[in-house]
Amino acid sequence: MATLSTETNTFSNMPTAMSGFQSFFLRHGTATQEPPNLMTEALHLWRARAEALGWTVTESLAAIAEPAGRTTAACYESLVQEITTDLEGSGGADVILLQLHGAMVAEGIDDCEGDVLRRVRRICPDATIGVSLDQHCHLTQAMLDESDLIICFKEYPHDDASARADELFDLARRAHAGEIRPVMHMYDCRMINLYLTKTGAMRSFVDQMSKREQDPGILSISLGHGFPWGDVADVGARMLVVSDDAPDLAARTAQQLGEAFFDLRQEVSCHPLPLCAALDQAAASTQGPVVLADMGDNSGGGAPGDSTFLLRGLLERGFHNFATGIYWDPMVVQLCQDAGEGSHMRLRIGGKTGAESGDPVDLPVLVKRIRSGLGQHLGQGLEPLGTMVWLRAQNEVDILVNDLRTQVYHPEAFEQMGIDLSEKAIVTVKSLFHFYGPFAKVASKIIQIATPGGTSPRFEDLPLTKSSPYWPKVQNPFNTLGEASSDA
Ligand SMILES: [Zn+2]
Repeated sequence: MATLSTETNTFSNMPTAMSGFQSFFLRHGTATQEPPNLMTEALHLWRARAEALGWTVTESLAAIAEPAGRTTAACYESLVQEITTDLEGSGGADVILLQLHGAMVAEGIDDCEGDVLRRVRRICPDATIGVSLDQHCHLTQAMLDESDLIICFKEYPHDDASARADELFDLARRAHAGEIRPVMHMYDCRMINLYLTKTGAMRSFVDQMSKREQDPGILSISLGHGFPWGDVADVGARMLVVSDDAPDLAARTAQQLGEAFFDLRQEVSCHPLPLCAALDQAAASTQGPVVLADMGDNSGGGAPGDSTFLLRGLLERGFHNFATGIYWDPMVVQLCQDAGEGSHMRLRIGGKTGAESGDPVDLPVLVKRIRSGLGQHLGQGLEPLGTMVWLRAQNEVDILVNDLRTQVYHPEAFEQMGIDLSEKAIVTVKSLFHFYGPFAKVASKIIQIATPGGTSPRFEDLPLTKSSPYWPKVQNPFNTLGEASSDA
């Protein structure tokens, strides 16, 4: 078993190199000796379940990088070779379980997961190969052809990694024992958007998928939501059905559910406000804290995490008493460490990585606090925060800056630093959706904003060059191709 996980924003100017894995999470067969994070939860679970059956476990690489641009060819090759070398060294395997992200793109390779699986399959042609994916993946035919079982997370925000890993283990065990014969089929929904699963029509749809898994002959149903900011041919939502030796049933069910999902496209998609309208709403609110999601600068989707469009908007309109974060700015962190807590400084904050970062903001600030080694929860996992600095500007403006690119998942990112969010009129978070559940508990209101940036949620404007026609760029992507539907 192994984990290889990053989600590639092909529009980013930041390469993903080995340093990106080293600074986030890189272990060589030892990931299960420490507490789980989102992408190693599966390894913990698989080890426990396999050892309970008396199986011998070979644990290989666990490599996770915060999303950025294409992974360099040298880095990708080195990581994949570690997995294949470990597999060869183990003398082969009966069952191979991989936690991959599903949207990794390297220099010269658009479908990294398909490539990994092809190389693993070549070493162990008869093994049962099971794959767990983040649902923000590009599901490709190569991935289906080279594996036996693929299961995606169902929940966004992701809090079901262990549950899905458990299902995958069950099915892989049964397939290996010859009790079932998994056959996969997928359907291209021709949609690019983001789908929060916790409420409304999307909640009902996920529940419906889970219910359909009980149908005779159906083993598993996944919706690959897709990852919008990847310029690859297979970008977009795919409905994936695994049947027990029933290809027609898998194809029929995938098409049926995929068409049902397309019919719900307005209800299940996100509808963020433009920046100006969002600030109007925030200004009109009499009760705090109003939480503003800076959707365009989610480092979890490969954006730099240092954009200033929202900060500048708040300052220019004279908002008081707000907390905002987390700005990725290692230069500011270094200057603050050199100056020390309690120092008054003039700092140039954010706006450094590229055009999608906007212009930097110059502010006189007090360095209130510096902390290293903190984490924030995402589901059951604890995600690192790097070195964090709390800056206080005039008008009770609190700014969190750090040296490790990460989105905001949880209020504890602010609270551990000493910032009391209940006292704030406004809190802004650089995140798309993962913050939603934990912040809903402290927010009077949540407003999602279509800010500019590397993860701008204006999906009709994505500069994709390889994709099929998709909604919302065209109103009926199926008609555009001159046919009612086609299987992927
Ligand atoms: Zn995801």
